[in-house]
Amino acid sequence: MGVANKRSIAWGIANSVNKAGARLVLTYQNERLGENVRELAPQLSNPLLVQCDVASDEQIQALMNRIREEVGHLDFIAHVLAFAPREALEGMYADTKREAFHIALDISAYSLAAVARAALPLMKDRQASIVTLTYLGAERVVQSYNVMGVAKAALEASVRYLASDLGPHGIRVNAISAGPIKTLASSAISGGISTMIKLHAERAPLRKQVDIDEVGDAALFLVSSLSRGISGEVIYVDGGYHILGV
Ligand code: NAD
Repeated sequence: MGVANKRSIAWGIANSVNKAGARLVLTYQNERLGENVRELAPQLSNPLLVQCDVASDEQIQALMNRIREEVGHLDFIAHVLAFAPREALEGMYADTKREAFHIALDISAYSLAAVARAALPLMKDRQASIVTLTYLGAERVVQSYNVMGVAKAALEASVRYLASDLGPHGIRVNAISAGPIKTLASSAISGGISTMIKLHAERAPLRKQVDIDEVGDAALFLVSSLSRGISGEVIYVDGGYHILGV
């Protein structure tokens, strides 16, 4: 869930899991992004394409109904989406409007629980796995990340609660905390994602940018049986950046 274009982290994940032999269902938020997804889809092996705006419980349920009819089950979900109104990603966090807070938390955090709940009948007792994407701004103050940092903190807590809820059904739930990557969503952060990427590449222990293929391969690990003992965890794909103090 979350391919908007070829720069999307979800596209990196789609390629990694496709190469490993998975048949994919790609979801897109709206018709405009659906055009991009239809252009990219032929690069994968026969994916099913379904529109799903996670703001709508009806669309989430319709997605699961469609998957039940056409595929019958789900072995993993990559929840790779988030949204906050652009004006909330600048200035002081203290100025966040109630409506912007509500939208950011609904789309970026609540949607994981809504999707997991609707997918449960398709995933249970299959040693299935759910992966979502988070960022260091959940734990540390990152300038301009603001309400998205609060939403990611809620998302990471949701990962732990969902891991506890779904573990007895054999379903694991984990998050990848990725370093900064230039995408449609990250370009909304005031002050510039390019500056963040430059600083990251100068300072991270691995001294380079993170790319969507690295995140894709970590997601492949988390949805495969290689990670069968891991649940409720946040795994960093950030070249080691989060270990740094000054
Ligand atoms: P992106 O713009 O390529 O993807 C964001 C996706 O979210 C888009 O496909 C968009 O359609 C989808 N989306 C937004 N609102 C939605 C809704 N209501 N219903 C369905 N889909 C909706 O950007 P990205 O950077 O690949 O973002 C993917 C995830 O990775 C996000 O959770 C983001 O916070 C996270 N992340 C990004 C970075 C980064 O630097 N780019 C770092 C860490 C984590």
